[in-house]
Amino acid sequence: MQNTSIPSSQPHVIVALDYAQFDAAMTLAQQLDPKLCRLKVGKELFTRTGPAAVETLQGLGFEVFLDLKFHDIPHTVAQAVKAAADLGVWMVNVHAMGGQRMMGAAREALVGYSKPPLLIAVTVLTSMEAQDLHDIGLHGEVLDQVHRLAALTKDCGLGGVVCSAREAAGLRQLWGEEGILVTPGIRSPGAPADDQRRTVSAREALQLGASQLVIGRPITQAADPQAALEHILREISV
Ligand code: C5P
Repeated sequence: MQNTSIPSSQPHVIVALDYAQFDAAMTLAQQLDPKLCRLKVGKELFTRTGPAAVETLQGLGFEVFLDLKFHDIPHTVAQAVKAAADLGVWMVNVHAMGGQRMMGAAREALVGYSKPPLLIAVTVLTSMEAQDLHDIGLHGEVLDQVHRLAALTKDCGLGGVVCSAREAAGLRQLWGEEGILVTPGIRSPGAPADDQRRTVSAREALQLGASQLVIGRPITQAADPQAALEHILREISV
């Protein structure tokens, strides 16, 4: 299945398994090469199938990003992050809006694990605009809030943030080379945007500073998902 011309030492692509059904998610995963990508399990699949989906994907050889965006009191988030670590996921995330004590508790929860998951935060959901922030009492520019929360995330010792490609360049400066910047909204030139408003190519996103790309429908809805993944990886490696 693997095409040896594609570099696999550092898989940049995380395929979003946005499925309601366990079987559909596993059928898709079985068509992909775990050396070439990681998989994202989000709220829909996890709420319907629970840890079984994560464990089955791990059994197929995949590293899993558990995208549940925890946001609660510090103790509860710490326990949830521990549960994710016990599941052996590769990466897990929280909402930076939960604040310093919540993020600190999440980070502390991972002390003692020999191979803890990467812990990252969501700053401002990209579905939110300035008016949405205003409505919840946050006045000012979205980008300023993104940077404020990203700086807080870094101060709390987390590994990086989820961000849009257009935020990536500034956030790369903030985080330095080591920071994890996970960017969705990726489309090949000329491909359907679906419901994404501002898309960039995989290559552009990496050039802007992203370290990981979350890609869903361009791979999951393709007639040949593995071929679609390889096509994107070739775009990156050119
Ligand atoms: O199918 P598509 O490539 O648009 O999927 C992108 C994935 O990234 C979905 O799982 C979506 O929920 C997620 N995501 C996003 N935009 C964000 C944050 C997450 O598209 N700002």
